[in-house]
Amino acid sequence: MGRQTRAYVDLEALRYNFRLAQRHAGEAAAMAVVKADGYGHGLEAVARALDSEATRFAVASLEEAERLRSAGIEQPIVLLQGFHDPDDIRTCVSLALEPVVHSEHQLVAIEQASLGGSLAVWLKINTGMNRLGFPPADADAVIARARLIEGVNLLGLMTHYACADDRDETMTAHQNGLFSALARRYPDLMFSASNSAGHFRESSPRFDWTRPGIMLYGATPMIAESAAELGLRAVMTLEARLTAIRTLQPGDAVGYGSTWRAEQPTPMGIVSIGYGDGYPRHAPTGTPIWIDGVRITTLGRVSMDMLAVNLTAAPHARPGDKVELWGANVPVDEVARHAGTIGYELLTGVTARVPRVYSE
Ligand SMILES: *Cc1c(COP(=O)(O)O)cnc(C)c1O
Repeated sequence: MGRQTRAYVDLEALRYNFRLAQRHAGEAAAMAVVKADGYGHGLEAVARALDSEATRFAVASLEEAERLRSAGIEQPIVLLQGFHDPDDIRTCVSLALEPVVHSEHQLVAIEQASLGGSLAVWLKINTGMNRLGFPPADADAVIARARLIEGVNLLGLMTHYACADDRDETMTAHQNGLFSALARRYPDLMFSASNSAGHFRESSPRFDWTRPGIMLYGATPMIAESAAELGLRAVMTLEARLTAIRTLQPGDAVGYGSTWRAEQPTPMGIVSIGYGDGYPRHAPTGTPIWIDGVRITTLGRVSMDMLAVNLTAAPHARPGDKVELWGANVPVDEVARHAGTIGYELLTGVTARVPRVYSE
């Protein structure tokens, strides 16, 4: 039996969300972004579940791409940050990986490499994120250079939105303007701009490929709309068990720092999960939790292996009862908001000691 702290992963919900992304992508195709261990859900399991639907995958590192190839994934795999070491270029060739070339030093490395085969590449254009990419003004020269390299197959151009999650369209419109101008001039190349948030911006062009990540896992990419409002289904249910119950008397404090003190007799439970499992330590008293069909809240500081909850609303709770930390009843985005972060960080932060349990 053990500790019974688990991350249940609903692979049918994952596929449902991918189909929703594909519908929002319209004429474009959606490549499934499965970096960061499938946003914490398990890289291989996520990719296999999407294998029959996704025609392209995207990851952040060569190591992740190698794991996908070992798992039998045969689709093209985009390396969103390109290669980090020129020695990896030949691996890209042999494993049919598609690096996104974002800088002069990467381009030079390809020019100087002996490829030993065909290398498919994307070029990253910086339209305003100002993280990676060539300036739009350099695009013509960079495209021309890439096309001159023997063995290189230039697939297309990518850019990344800085503010697509925001109601304010100004920045996204500016980025789309720059990127659309390039798309008009290079109709023979493929273009890709949308992260998850881009799928929900009616006025944003979808170009040829979209790149949904977080939405596949059922968390919201938007500031103002919840996952449920966007029609997404929760994929991960983080679950633990109630391990102890006691009644706090007025004046009793609970947990490190004694940050919360009872003012009246309060039934309290201890749940077997903590920041050592990836539950956020910054979740304050009052963060929602689900037990037995009702919402309850955390009390005091989260410890490494456990946390305390207020059982006033669940008087019949007993040790051994299941507790949902996030999932279909408590959206991960709501926990994130309480903890001052975003669903992305919580999902990718579930630690290795929490077994992932998959259901179809
Ligand atoms: C992570 C990533 C995505 C997916 O972003 P989401 O907000 O999770 O949809 C898309 N494109 C690039 C370049 C990324 O790094």
